[in-house]
Amino acid sequence: MDTREHPADPGQTKQFLVKCNACSFEQTTAGREEVTQVGNDHRRETGHELVALEVPPSIGSS
Ligand SMILES: [Zn+2]
Repeated sequence: MDTREHPADPGQTKQFLVKCNACSFEQTTAGREEVTQVGNDHRRETGHELVALEVPPSIGSS
């Protein structure tokens, strides 16, 4: 297992809500790298561009 790709400091990992304007795709990601990865995957599968909205850590999902 390679753990080097995971941030060692969770306090600096920002959460982003990644949304697509062209379809109903929506996903919460942790960190910019994941935003890029999800965006690349979606673009490769659908040709859509995603937008990422920063999620303040204080906001829950309730
Ligand atoms: Zn889409």
